[in-house]
Amino acid sequence: MHFSANVEKLKPSATIAVSTLAKKLAAEGRDIINLSAGEPDFDTPAFISGAAIAGIRDGTTRYTPPAGIPELRSAIADRLSERSGCTMDPDGVVVTAGAKQALFNAIFTLFGPGDEVMIAAPYWTTYPDLVMIARAEPMEVFGDQANDFKITPTDLERCVTDATRGLIINTPCNPTGAVYTLDELGALAEWCRDRGVWLLSDEIYRSIHYAGDGAAPGILSLPAESLGPHVLIDGASKSFAMTGWRIGFTYSDVEVTKKFSALQSQITSNSATPSQVAALAAFGGTSAADASLSEMGETFRRRRDLVCRRMGELLPGVPFVEPGGAFYLFFRVDGFFDHQVTNATEWCSRLLQEEGVALVPGAAFGDDRWVRMSFATSDDIIEQALGRIASSVGAASTS
Ligand code: PLP
Repeated sequence: MHFSANVEKLKPSATIAVSTLAKKLAAEGRDIINLSAGEPDFDTPAFISGAAIAGIRDGTTRYTPPAGIPELRSAIADRLSERSGCTMDPDGVVVTAGAKQALFNAIFTLFGPGDEVMIAAPYWTTYPDLVMIARAEPMEVFGDQANDFKITPTDLERCVTDATRGLIINTPCNPTGAVYTLDELGALAEWCRDRGVWLLSDEIYRSIHYAGDGAAPGILSLPAESLGPHVLIDGASKSFAMTGWRIGFTYSDVEVTKKFSALQSQITSNSATPSQVAALAAFGGTSAADASLSEMGETFRRRRDLVCRRMGELLPGVPFVEPGGAFYLFFRVDGFFDHQVTNATEWCSRLLQEEGVALVPGAAFGDDRWVRMSFATSDDIIEQALGRIASSVGAASTS
């Protein structure tokens, strides 16, 4: 069958593929621990769901402006202002159907055939595909493992060409959990500014941050003179356990916002109206919202500590990145390869078949010597999963 060049290189999301297989095995009756999905295990806080239900009952169920209901755009701008210490303009906000659509809007609007877009690697699996949908060329830029894979201007210099038009970074990072400091972000932003390269910063995990009390550093906190052309991507999915509601947003220059909004008006019109009402409760700056963020944050912190401690005890010597944010543990498994298993994809497949633990192989993130384990689950399941992984590795090394 013939398909257009738009989707020539398109493949389904690798992380969704693993989680679908794990669900299928579980439905067949297998005892599966599925740590492949990228979503919080909490229910959406009741004050958020309740606001949506009340909105539906009140008839708030019609189209909204493509960029979102004005009150929500203002609330998002207020939260961004609080975090950055500068005043953000509600007209710079476009509310989208998840951060994924926010990324799509940005990539599709800013890049096209002949453009190269640098992607800090290991990267969230969707970035290269979105760049390819825009028919631009994704270029991986790996940081140093010793620096938790965070990239620097030196890494960018190594990969830049005359065709480079954009850089996509993600902090806190999926899959590594690495968090860029404000100084590190400043150095990248200034490099982009000097080169006239768009900086797209995906900060969807910003609220899930383990150092200090507040959110992880973000590009909007940089001095205005450090920033060239840029787009911030964020949303409600991870911080407020709202993955299914599909609420993301971009923050950008107002001229850029108009293009994103026009694009969206031709595709999805607007993010679902009840979801926007729910998001207004989430981003409303209330004490209930603060309490939810800190309660979920504390739980993730406890799990992060547990997973790091048990890695050291059960899998001593296995390299991993200590997560500074997000809820993933990225660890290296090439030390366990043998004549049958020569990459992380095969290693994960054996682990799923033999031990019933689903992880995502690093092929999805640009390096198939590593795997990603989500720790958005109970302490008990984390313990069980690490126990099964340790036992599988013991079995593999003696066979
Ligand atoms: N960005 C990153 C780094 C992610 O990990 C994800 C989801 O896994 C997204 C964006 C997409 O978020 P959403 O569910 O809001 O589309």
